Amino acid sequence: MRRALLVPLAAILLGAAVVAQQGPVGQGGGRGGRGRGVAIQPREECPPGTTLVRVDTCQAPEFPPPSIVDYRPKSSLVVEQHPVPKAKFPVVDIHSHTGPMPETVSFLITQMDALNIRVLNNLSGGFGDAVKQRVDYIRSTPYADRFTVFANGLNGFRDVAPGYGQKAAAQLEADVKNGAIGFKVFKETGMDTKRADGTRLKINDPELAPIWDTAARLNIPVIIHTGEPPEFFKPLDLHNERWLELALFPDRRRYLVPVSFEELNAERDELFKKHPKTRFISAHFGWHANDLSRAAKLLDASPNVVLELAAILYDLGRQPRAAHDFFVKYQDRILFGKDTYAPTEFPYYWRVLETKDEYFDYYRDYHAFWNLYGMDLPDPVLRKVYYQNAVRVTPGLPQSGWPR
Ligand SMILES: [Zn+2]
Repeated sequence: MRRALLVPLAAILLGAAVVAQQGPVGQGGGRGGRGRGVAIQPREECPPGTTLVRVDTCQAPEFPPPSIVDYRPKSSLVVEQHPVPKAKFPVVDIHSHTGPMPETVSFLITQMDALNIRVLNNLSGGFGDAVKQRVDYIRSTPYADRFTVFANGLNGFRDVAPGYGQKAAAQLEADVKNGAIGFKVFKETGMDTKRADGTRLKINDPELAPIWDTAARLNIPVIIHTGEPPEFFKPLDLHNERWLELALFPDRRRYLVPVSFEELNAERDELFKKHPKTRFISAHFGWHANDLSRAAKLLDASPNVVLELAAILYDLGRQPRAAHDFFVKYQDRILFGKDTYAPTEFPYYWRVLETKDEYFDYYRDYHAFWNLYGMDLPDPVLRKVYYQNAVRVTPGLPQSGWPR
């Protein structure tokens, strides 16, 4: 019995050895394959210009490879498609920079209706007269409940010196009287903007405290954009998943700037903790959408903080199950935002949030060299993310006229 078993086993082992020896010239190698293989050590990377073709063997393609700019493979996957041109429930886009103008307002409304965006919130309100003019114009149209405005820092937070905080807080109070319903802090503040003494203005600078306290007293939220995606702070090498974006846009090369992702987040998180009565909206998921455990930590540490999901769809759509569970767990802590107003792009958000579609195209290669999957969120969560959370966090938004 034993002997009889040994023979076939030896034959199998021998067969395996033959296959291994054939290596890259085996099946698929074909003419010209022999000799191009480059052996590497286990776990070593293939040399530039080659790719792994067999265990520990790399090979250069026979044709000159296209650049990543030109290579746009079309997926051959055949699955059901459920595009979502119109959101299932009315939406507040809390993170927009678009507001109505006389020549665009009716066109804008037509587009918003088609997408089911009920309110477009312009974060670029400015301060002083700029805010007042924007709000006055909105109120002069038949669409006063469709557009809202957040105010920005006095003088763009430039040249902060003792006394700035009090003046900026007074300006915010005036802007809210004039119709602003929140305050927006742009990413330059905390990262690039200099104080009058030439040092970097940190977002947790005590001089700014009167602004946050005033926002709390006026019952308005502060939306704050801190930092950039973590990859922007990493070297521009061929392992950086945002290589193309960094090669396209010089101002995103944060690895050239002497402040780190971690420093910026530490300063922001300290601000959130130091002002527990101020409601903060951390824009772009606090740039933690690629690490939801960290996003969870931020929310757990600071009950006064909610997240907003603009410009991180590529991170949600590549982890649909984890993102689904996160959205269900933190369903009261997430607001919809888009940032760039582009009517053709909103439906990608609806599709990721609402469907369980698989592996569909994203609209921008420089954000993501991967495709997206739907999160299949339940209706009660969708309602909260689309409008209920925004309406709660931002009392200046229309409080009535929402579904049931
Ligand atoms: Zn923005």
